[in-house]
Amino acid sequence: MVLSSNSQNNQVITRFAPTPSGYLHLGHAYSAFFAERAARSREGTLVLRIENNDKTRCLEKYEKALVDDLTWLGLSWKNPVRRQSEYTQDYLKAVSKLKDMGLIYPCFCSRKDIWNKVNLISNAPHNAVIGGLGPIYPGTCRSMTSDEQENRILSGHQYAFRLDTMRAIRLVKSKQECFHWEDLDYGKQAAKPEIFGDFIIARKDGAASYHLSVVIDDAAQRVDLVTRGDDLRDVTHIHFLLQKLLELKSPRYQFHRLLLDSNGERYAKRNNAQSLRELRNQGITPAQIIKNLGFSLL
Ligand code: GLU
Repeated sequence: MVLSSNSQNNQVITRFAPTPSGYLHLGHAYSAFFAERAARSREGTLVLRIENNDKTRCLEKYEKALVDDLTWLGLSWKNPVRRQSEYTQDYLKAVSKLKDMGLIYPCFCSRKDIWNKVNLISNAPHNAVIGGLGPIYPGTCRSMTSDEQENRILSGHQYAFRLDTMRAIRLVKSKQECFHWEDLDYGKQAAKPEIFGDFIIARKDGAASYHLSVVIDDAAQRVDLVTRGDDLRDVTHIHFLLQKLLELKSPRYQFHRLLLDSNGERYAKRNNAQSLRELRNQGITPAQIIKNLGFSLL
């Protein structure tokens, strides 16, 4: 384990950042305790963020329930709680900044368009899928002329914004030598945002992508140790790139294992994971959950 000699070690701020699109399950509880213990072991602070940027999936009843569940588990955090839905303007400002830097472009492609193109240029399309983000964007709209962009927009075509990732990397590299982020357990990691291709910065409905909002939120909440599941390790490459472009400080990262249920499946809404409230209704206590997750009761 790489221990930083940084004197801020004892003032670490970690965060738990659930998406209120369903009830919390044991996987969330594990992640929340991991973040809380990471802060506590360094006499630091835990903050909470409600990642409710996606209005189509997030409901207020889940937000209320998650605060209630976390409190029932005995977790506490430093207020204020940050709710993404209250910071739309901040995300839009960042989109404008990237636009002014000439680093994003409108993309009119549908999912189907992208898959068709990917299938056309590759015999093994599954190789083009990375990090659960879908296929690597084949760059269809990247070199569209501004006249063509304007025509499409004027005729009512919906569009997302994508980052021209290679251009962004060149820009950052031209200004600084160091191009790595820090994994608390494994040390310096060479940043490789190119593996994701041109990813989405703002969606067709105008909302900022998860990647854009998360780096803005972490900086705004002064998070200096991001703890999260191993499934989000790879996206750190693009979060690092966005931090550099937006001149935000890069936190350190620590990843935890993904909790598996008795069938060896990941706890997830789509696997019908039992919610914390169901366990609570069955008479399971917070202490039992904490012990079961492998954390000490302190
Ligand atoms: N909101 C994400 C989730 O519920 C977590 C994102 C993160 O930790 O960066 O899975």
